Amino acid sequence: MRIAVASGKGGTGKTTVATSLALSLANEQNIRFLDCDVEAPNAHLFLNPSFTKRQDAAILIPEIDAEQCTLCGKCVEVCQFHALAKVGKSILTFAQLCHGCGSCTWNCPVNAIQEIPNPIGKLESGLTPESIQFSRGVLTISEPMSTPIIRQLKRWEQPQPEQLTILDSPPGASCAVVETLRGADFALLVTEPTPFGLHDLNQIIGIVQEFNIPAGVVVNRDGIGNDVINAFHDKHNIPVLLRIPFSLEIAAGLSAGTSLIEIKPDLRQEFLHMFTQITRIVKTTEEGEK
Ligand code: SF4
Ligand code: SF4
Repeated sequence: MRIAVASGKGGTGKTTVATSLALSLANEQNIRFLDCDVEAPNAHLFLNPSFTKRQDAAILIPEIDAEQCTLCGKCVEVCQFHALAKVGKSILTFAQLCHGCGSCTWNCPVNAIQEIPNPIGKLESGLTPESIQFSRGVLTISEPMSTPIIRQLKRWEQPQPEQLTILDSPPGASCAVVETLRGADFALLVTEPTPFGLHDLNQIIGIVQEFNIPAGVVVNRDGIGNDVINAFHDKHNIPVLLRIPFSLEIAAGLSAGTSLIEIKPDLRQEFLHMFTQITRIVKTTEEGEK
């Protein structure tokens, strides 16, 4: 099973929830944790993996052989991302705009294009003290393309049979979030009970519904705002699976790099109960699809 933990908004506690779920289940499940927040990966701060495996992440970008190129312009025409331009008697490539889709190569009538790797970051993996298989992508600073590195991270190390995969999504509702949610069996949406939280939750629910992924909500910092999340539940019929209270003790502990489960050990049972509910929802959804 693959559970993607997402939030329409940064700073809601998505990584806190994802890592707490992993730590709560570590004694009972074989867990694979993917930190897909490749622009600012920080789940390792709570899970403390020892990285033992590293690999460069790259996308294939076109390199044009000026000798063979007839300047027909077909590659420029098919590139949806404006990564190629015909300037005078040459075709220019803007590597940072290239998504590595390969359309230009496919459409070149004289095979004047070869694809070369363009490094965009790295992949790292290792085990945590609880034997969680932890992997993360790290996008090189100034590289704009996070989606390909997330795609590579998801494919890098295949899950073992019966392994539970927890994906910590980037914040927001961008292409990177779409890539993280793609193929998930369940979306755990973390929010806070404020109008801002509700606004961003409404954005991400559109993606989840587009993919037809069953979802549930975790309300973090419960008590700081109003009851807007209940209204969301009533409108979308998406269950609130867990409420984490607003507490200065939790805030201070998280700031010091202590995991939520260490700060509040009694929450572990609530995370376990939430996982039981998630399992039931996924099973019911799968049976309904048969
Ligand atoms: S690989 Fe795709 S995105 Fe990159 S230049 Fe070619 S057509 Fe454009
Ligand atoms: S499609 Fe091929 S031949 Fe045409 S401009 Fe591009 S590289 Fe040159």
